[in-house]
Amino acid sequence: MGFLDGRRVLITGVASYRSLAYGIAKAMYREGAQLAFTYQNNKLKDRVRKIANDFGSDIVLPCDVSEDESINDLFLHLSKFWLKFDGFVHAIAYASNDQLNGDYVESITREGFSVAHNVTSYSFVALAKACRNMLSTCSSLVTLTYLGSVRAIPNYNVMGLAKASLEANMRYMARSLGAEGIRVNAISSGPVRTLAASGIMNFKQMLSYCKDKSPMCRNVTIDEIGNVAAFLCSDLSSGITGEVIYVDAGFSVV
Ligand code: NAP
Repeated sequence: MGFLDGRRVLITGVASYRSLAYGIAKAMYREGAQLAFTYQNNKLKDRVRKIANDFGSDIVLPCDVSEDESINDLFLHLSKFWLKFDGFVHAIAYASNDQLNGDYVESITREGFSVAHNVTSYSFVALAKACRNMLSTCSSLVTLTYLGSVRAIPNYNVMGLAKASLEANMRYMARSLGAEGIRVNAISSGPVRTLAASGIMNFKQMLSYCKDKSPMCRNVTIDEIGNVAAFLCSDLSSGITGEVIYVDAGFSVV
C-alpha cells in the first residue's frame, strides 16, 4: 500500500524522461496515485501519451498556460474523467533564451519580463483559480522553484524575478485556499539537466559549481525531487503549507 493510494493528481510540465515532472510522476505512481497529464502543444502529445502510459494513465490533455481559454478547456475535459481530484503539480516555466544569457540589465526587456512572469508565476494561480471547485478538501498544489529567486545567479536573470513572484504567489495561494483544506507549497530544486535548463547559458558550469560546493558534494536527482513532491501531496505533510522546501543537496545553506 502506498501513501498516495486513492489520490488523483494532475501533472503538468512533462517534456521528457529528464523532466522534474517525470521524477514526480514516477514517485507518485509508485505510492499509488492515479495520474493525469498535460502537454503544451501537439509536438509533445505522443511523447507525453507514452509517458502517461508508463504510469497507467490514459488521461492526457492539452494546456497552454499562457491562455485562459486553454486552461478552462483543460478542466472541462478533465471533469469528464474526474469530477473531483486531489491536487496538481505545476512544473512549468518559460523565458526566451536571450533573457537567460549574460548581463541582466542589458538583456532584460519589457516583453521578456512579462512573458516570464506570465508563464512561470501567474499560471500557477490561474490553474488553481480554474479548478478550485474541483479540488477535494485534502488537496495539495506543488510548484517548482529555484534559488535564483533569492540570490542573484549568473545568467538566471529575469527567471529569478519570476521565481520570486512564484514563491510569493504560492504563499498568497496557501492563505487563500487553506480554509478549504487545500495546501500549497514549492520545492526549490538544485540544478538538474533538463530541456528547460539547457536554455540557461553556462548551465554545465552551474551544475559542477553546485556539485563542488554543496555539503553533499553532488547534485540532486529527479527521483529525489519526486519523493518530496509525493510527500507534499500526501497526508504525511498535512501540517505544511506556504513553504519553500529546498531539495538541493544543501547548496543553499553554504
Ligand atoms: P522541462 O522538462 O523542460 O519542463 C518544462 C515544462 O514547461 C515543459 O513541459 C514545457 O513544455 C512547459 N511549458 C513551458 N511553457 C509552457 C506553457 N505556456 N504552457 C504549458 N507548458 C509550458 O524542464 P524542468 O527543468 O523539468 O522544469 C520544470 C520546472 O522545474 C520549471 O518550473 C523549472 O523552472 C523548475 N526548476 C528546474 C530546475 C532545473 O535545474 N532543471 C531547477 C529548479 C527548478 P514544452 O516543452 O512544450 O515547452
